[in-house]
Amino acid sequence: MTPDVRDRADRPFRADSRTVTGGAIPEAAWDRALRLIGRADEIALACHVTPDGDALGSMLAVGFVLRSLGKRVVASFGDHHFVVPRLLRFLPGQDMLVPPADYPAAPELMITFDVSTFERLGLLRENTARAREVIVVDHHPSNEGFGTLSLIDSTAAATAVLAEQLMYRLGGGLDRDIAVCLYTGLVTDTGSFRHSSTTPAVHQMAARLVATGLRTDEIARELWDRSPFGYLKVLAAALDRATLEDGLVWTYVTRVDRAAHGLPYAELEGIIDIVRRTDEAEVAVVLKEDDQGDWQVSTRSKGRADVGAACAALGGGGHHNAAGYTSHESVEATMDAFRRELGKVGWSRAG
Ligand code: AMP
Ligand code: MN
Ligand code: MN
Repeated sequence: MTPDVRDRADRPFRADSRTVTGGAIPEAAWDRALRLIGRADEIALACHVTPDGDALGSMLAVGFVLRSLGKRVVASFGDHHFVVPRLLRFLPGQDMLVPPADYPAAPELMITFDVSTFERLGLLRENTARAREVIVVDHHPSNEGFGTLSLIDSTAAATAVLAEQLMYRLGGGLDRDIAVCLYTGLVTDTGSFRHSSTTPAVHQMAARLVATGLRTDEIARELWDRSPFGYLKVLAAALDRATLEDGLVWTYVTRVDRAAHGLPYAELEGIIDIVRRTDEAEVAVVLKEDDQGDWQVSTRSKGRADVGAACAALGGGGHHNAAGYTSHESVEATMDAFRRELGKVGWSRAG
């Protein structure tokens, strides 16, 4: 008989030696992280602005672990408009969150999650610059390591993978709340286990998390199968003006589109996943106008073009197949600049 995973729901999972091996991070770096965490009473956590599931999930998961070790924990992200995106409000641990204004001005120890550049700290940049120690936990290949200690592994499918490693090394056990946070990071950054980053180790990690009794069906519905009605209308406008040109498909969504249907900026995240399915295109781009009037540019590649390099050249960053940047120019000028950088990374439209 198959045991019900829920029977094991609240039994803490402890790692065996196989769980905490591998990866590109030197043992000495992990050791130093454990020492820094061990001697801190209060630890300030941060993730990138407009957090996604991996950023917020990894941060809150480690927050739970640090709390269980008796640490005082504050967590935040540096957005002017400090709200947790609607689709991530199901994540447990949100009582750890404080707005940037209430964040320690000069933390003794800070840990950042999924933050690829100093700029992605937003309003928390000054706090980070004044922190005594900053541990950078991340998986972006473009991360230059802006902290005093890097736990960066670009082979990790998600920052959540590294968060899980940190948890075991700290001697923490997995419970359902932590698992919900880590699973959200893993499932969002792997595109529901569809991207090439989905290794056997990713599935093994998912199995450990699911064994705590979490509801993968409920998490999937929260993340991908819900939208306000206005989303349909804004999506229709975006798709109506989609343009296909020589292997590139692109569109844009303005503030005016959103205002007409009362749709918050964070609801636009899924549009790129519809645009990028275009068979005729190797690269997909969606320009999203945020509340400040800047364009947040989301780009995706099917593999031949390194959009991460193109976006890094334009002041942003990301991964080979998923990247982004901020543009202060018009739609036309933004697209001209992107086409130019894409040309330089030398991709082939054929095949
Ligand atoms: P998104 O299109 O927002 O889902 O982002 C895709 C990838 O690009 C993520 O890995 C982000 O970390 C990265 N990214 C998006 N926007 C920026 C930006 N303004 N600066 C640096 N990296 C970004
Ligand atoms: Mn992220
Ligand atoms: Mn990530």
